[in-house]
Amino acid sequence: MILANKSAIVTGSTSGIGLGIARAFAAEGANVMLNGFGDAAAIEQIRHEIAGTGPGKAAYHAADMSKPAEIADLVAKTAASLGSVDVVVNNAGIQHVAPVENFPIERWDAIIAINLSSAFHTTRAALPLMKKAGWGRIINVASAHGLVASGEKTAYVAAKHGVLGLTKAVAIECADTGVTCNAICPGWVLTPLVQKQIEARAAEQKISVEKARNTLLGEKQPQLQFTTPEQLAALAVFLCSPAAANMQGSQLVSDGGWTAQ
Ligand code: NAD
Repeated sequence: MILANKSAIVTGSTSGIGLGIARAFAAEGANVMLNGFGDAAAIEQIRHEIAGTGPGKAAYHAADMSKPAEIADLVAKTAASLGSVDVVVNNAGIQHVAPVENFPIERWDAIIAINLSSAFHTTRAALPLMKKAGWGRIINVASAHGLVASGEKTAYVAAKHGVLGLTKAVAIECADTGVTCNAICPGWVLTPLVQKQIEARAAEQKISVEKARNTLLGEKQPQLQFTTPEQLAALAVFLCSPAAANMQGSQLVSDGGWTAQ
């Protein structure tokens, strides 16, 4: 097991891609600190499921990833309750779609805080622990929107481009420490974050949800298949494996050809 006796924080792991990564890490033997919003009973069910997946423990911390003090507490509590912080996956994220001139200032601030600044805060807090241990993995879930833009997503595109810049700068600082910092760039993944966009598109264009799903995919992703949380989780596991030990500041893209065009 690649992550036996290692502890991993996966932000935004109560849903979608983060949940997929948490499941895969638990199957590889990790202790997993879950994080994210949701109904308390549903989160406890997820924690229970993850705890039963492998030999490691599973815990949950409710840190709001827009709040630096809560992020510091997430890292400190993980070290205290799970024994170490070996892997951090910066995955929590939100979306808002609107033309730039109408983009709500509060949504801009929230997207920059949750999708970009939170990765700085977790890295800042966890890196000293990783350097001391001589091993660590920081994995930033960016996006195809870290590499190319779409209209009406200014905050998201700016945040995801920023995440890739952060990834490269941290990677350079980490060279020769045993810690690596890399990014994963998914294309469309059918999670609640994208389902909301599909439903908004169906309502706006007065078309069925199925048609909206197909046009959304067809506009960007020539392979016409959603990337899955399981495929992305396998990439995260790979980044923790010895085969990836010399990868620093890389972008692993899984986008069905979106950014190849
Ligand atoms: P999702 O909505 O299924 O999950 C988002 C997670 O983040 C949830 O657990 C939610 O509770 C958590 N979260 C949101 N705000 C938070 C906050 N303030 N504090 C703590 N947790 C918070 O979305 P997803 O599609 O799984 O997205 C996960 C990541 O993948 C995001 O960074 C997103 O930008 C990125 N991504 C998604 C896609 C896609 O097509 N779904 C594509 C590229 C990148």
